[in-house]
Amino acid sequence: MESITAVKGFKDVLPPETDKWRQIEMTAHEVFSTFGFKEIRIPLIEKTELFCRSIGETTDIVEKEMYTFIDRGEESLTLRPEATASVIRAYLEHALHAAEAVTKLYTIGPMFRRERPQKGRYRQFHQIDAEILGPDDPRTDAELILMLIHFLGKLGLRNLNLEINSLGCAQCRPAFREAIISFLRGREEDLCGDCRRRLSANPLRVFDCKVETCAEIVALAPLLPDFLCGECRGHFEKVQACLSLFDRPFRLNAKMVRGLDYYTRTTFEVTSEFLGAQNAVVGGGRYDHLVRDLGGPDIAGIGFAIGFERLAAMIPQGVADAAVQGPVLFIAALGERALETAFLLCNRLRMKSIRVEMDHTGRSLKSQMKRADKLKSRYTLILGDREISGNKAVLRTMQTSTQEEIGLDCLEETIIELAR
Ligand code: ATP
Ligand code: MG
Repeated sequence: MESITAVKGFKDVLPPETDKWRQIEMTAHEVFSTFGFKEIRIPLIEKTELFCRSIGETTDIVEKEMYTFIDRGEESLTLRPEATASVIRAYLEHALHAAEAVTKLYTIGPMFRRERPQKGRYRQFHQIDAEILGPDDPRTDAELILMLIHFLGKLGLRNLNLEINSLGCAQCRPAFREAIISFLRGREEDLCGDCRRRLSANPLRVFDCKVETCAEIVALAPLLPDFLCGECRGHFEKVQACLSLFDRPFRLNAKMVRGLDYYTRTTFEVTSEFLGAQNAVVGGGRYDHLVRDLGGPDIAGIGFAIGFERLAAMIPQGVADAAVQGPVLFIAALGERALETAFLLCNRLRMKSIRVEMDHTGRSLKSQMKRADKLKSRYTLILGDREISGNKAVLRTMQTSTQEEIGLDCLEETIIELAR
């Protein structure tokens, strides 16, 4: 019979890659909680309208990448393409803003976008997402970015490119919009179909277009930072000054607009040449109107999303291997009575949190010793029916290849002592 494969763009994560994933997750929990973040878990499915209203109707994500379906003829639902909208939906639904002036939340999980699958781009991928809701001061922006760089550093990632920009606010963006529309109108026939269509609805999207001719046009376009109002300029300068207090280099990139409509003021991206064509590992920015646009009070916010697969690809497997140890003990049991004793001992020790492995098939001693070696077990207990009759077992220290006899009566205590 023909076997069934996974859906295109949906990927299994296998061991030992999963060890690396867990290592990343544990580091995120540790670093983020040090910076005062609490974890939130949100549903995979939301009402479609949530994403249309937040991400924006004329963005790539909403226009062509969402997995949207009508749930049994009733309502339009969507597999979440990103986490920020859901986090804010939950923040408002449970009135978290009423309890705290500053709410720092993070979440880790799968996102879904119907893109063309390729290296570093999948239809189900994972993100580590962090959001700070409440303050709009520039120190908050700097703090979030510093936490991000610190987190990446803890995973051994340095020499990454951090790029920042400011997209301005409702005061200064209209003037830029006018300037960019009139600039693009003059070159309309050279733009790709998508950009031509979006020209008046969402001219900033042209900055994000990957078509070469559009990129050439954009290279000459007016730049957002030149249009910033005094307040936005001051805010952006302060963000840079705060970042400069730490030895974390960054670059200004006036053309970075990010692919979602809700951003205002500070935006940032972390890229790495190591990743090839899909080089962005983190995207983030401030969104001072999103909470209000989703029906909440006037509360500012800023956040980032780390692409989990791209992050994992940059971390050598060895980093995780060091954290994942082999068993403390391998029990090589030969014969039915020995298997019985080993089964009992093995599972009793595991219930005391000691990593123990055994082979239930009673294969030859040689092949069991081979397996103990392969699993990198610290000790191997050799237990045959003869040893059982003699009320003893042989304990081998794998690193030194030394053996000693221990009595069956004190077996459990001896192993517990060794495992300390
Ligand atoms: P890109 O320009 O690569 O499409 P994006 O701007 O769409 O990225 P964001 O929406 O900002 O990405 O998401 C943040 C991060 O999530 C990205 O920097 C990337 O690491 C990761 N990411 C986004 N889309 C995918 C995908 N389809 N597969 C794997 N990772 C992704
Ligand atoms: Mg994208």
